[in-house]
Amino acid sequence: MRSIGEHAVVLGAGMAGLLAARTLAGAYERVTIVERDEVRTGRARKGVPQGKHAHILLPRGQRILEELFPGVERELIGGGAVVADPGVDHRFTLGGHVLARRPGAERAIQASRPFLEQVVRDRVSALPGVRFADGRDVVGLLTGGPARITGVEVMPRHVGGAAEEIHADLVVDAMGRSGRTRYWLERLGHGPVPQEEIRLGVGYATRPIRLPLDARVGRAVVVGPRPGQPKGMAMVAVEGDRYLLTVAGLDAANRPPTDEDGFRSYVRDLAPPDVFEAIDAAEPLDGVAAHRYSSDLRNHYQRMKGLPDGLLVTGDALCSFNPVYAQGMTVACLEAEVLRDCLDEGRRGLTRRYFRAAAKALNVPWRMAVAADLAMPEVEGHRGPAVRVMNAYVDRVQAAAARDTGIAEQFFRVIGLLDPPPALMRPSIVTRALLPAGRDRAPRPAARKERTAA
Ligand SMILES: Cc1cc2nc3c(=O)[nH]c(=O)nc-3n(C[C@H](O)[C@H](O)[C@H](O)COP(=O)(O)OP(=O)(O)OC[C@H]3O[C@@H](n4cnc5c(N)ncnc54)[C@H](O)[C@@H]3O)c2cc1C
Repeated sequence: MRSIGEHAVVLGAGMAGLLAARTLAGAYERVTIVERDEVRTGRARKGVPQGKHAHILLPRGQRILEELFPGVERELIGGGAVVADPGVDHRFTLGGHVLARRPGAERAIQASRPFLEQVVRDRVSALPGVRFADGRDVVGLLTGGPARITGVEVMPRHVGGAAEEIHADLVVDAMGRSGRTRYWLERLGHGPVPQEEIRLGVGYATRPIRLPLDARVGRAVVVGPRPGQPKGMAMVAVEGDRYLLTVAGLDAANRPPTDEDGFRSYVRDLAPPDVFEAIDAAEPLDGVAAHRYSSDLRNHYQRMKGLPDGLLVTGDALCSFNPVYAQGMTVACLEAEVLRDCLDEGRRGLTRRYFRAAAKALNVPWRMAVAADLAMPEVEGHRGPAVRVMNAYVDRVQAAAARDTGIAEQFFRVIGLLDPPPALMRPSIVTRALLPAGRDRAPRPAARKERTAA
């Protein structure tokens, strides 16, 4: 990639910031990543509280990560990440249907969020021209008149630290949900940023555990929410011979408790019986950590008129989704690809081109997440005919995927963001999905409905 500028500054060293920095490193001579935490740790850190909870990298994200950092999968595995054949080692119950196992799917690399972030961060810090300015809060944008952002103001977090200015040709906001760029823009007279929001109030609770040696439950067990039961679980094997057991529920009535008895009975109500048995015999490795996620939130910067040049936004700061669908890190990967393509075309009109292309890339995951959320009667929001028809069809696809490995594979490719949703509308899929159970001719075991433990 040819150099198009001298200095880019990335705000936030979470996954989206690291991925953006990787892409910028070829196009700018220097890249500075400003981060409020001290980042030299492989542990969950304060600025990324979700790091304690299970994080699944979808297949599309895994592919892009390997493209951006060749050999990263090998490094993760070398450091202890778990390799799984999802078609065999993963157990998915979605919409109440136990999806068919399907050997031969792409391998999945499973790691905790802090470990994944650390491996990616080490690769980024080895790139020429990249430096971390950690232990510093970004407190505002610097401008060169109304039409251009020229850097940021930062405040060191140590006692007695004085404000510093960092000047740059390009500023990329990757400060996650807590980022304040939209407020700063409003204060500068550019606003408001149009937003779309679906209120959720999802509560998360996670405990790391070590299963008994003889437990045979697979490398990931996922039970998704469904209408009438707006709660779910993901138990994922990760490095360190551990499983991260995460449960989540919508609104105050369904949020998981964090006390011992409450957490146990919440898990018992969700987990398949054999999985619960293994969990009950497991060694707890820590207490139960809680997290609250308020809403799906999308900022439509591409709709703004007179947006100043020199500012881009990525990751959760641009759009964040109900974490239940595990899309966030993969979407950050997609945005890094968008950024790379925009940088390839040079500096001219970069801000506008980027926001337009990022919005296009976001449409599919956003619509999938919002439609799935609106399938829950507890979630407030407008359900147009398209959403209602799509949700009814997805329910039929999930039921068919319980008995038809071909449909299961196609369904996983769509939710893994490898194929677009119309792949589920191919005539061969539609006819099999709409057949009443038992009438299709695919070789299969009998349809199974998930049972919950007593
Ligand atoms: C409970 C939970 C579970 C999830 N599970 C999954 C999953 O299974 N799969 C998946 O793909 N995604 C998952 N996600 C989403 C995922 O964590 C994010 O989408 C993804 O990490 C991208 O985040 P980000 O880098 O944009 O923001 P973050 O990870 O939030 O990082 C933002 C960074 O900016 C820094 N920062 C913030 N403000 C400032 C400031 N003023 N100055 C300096 N630095 C600042 C923070 O310290 C932090 O390091 C989950 C999220 C939650 C909440």
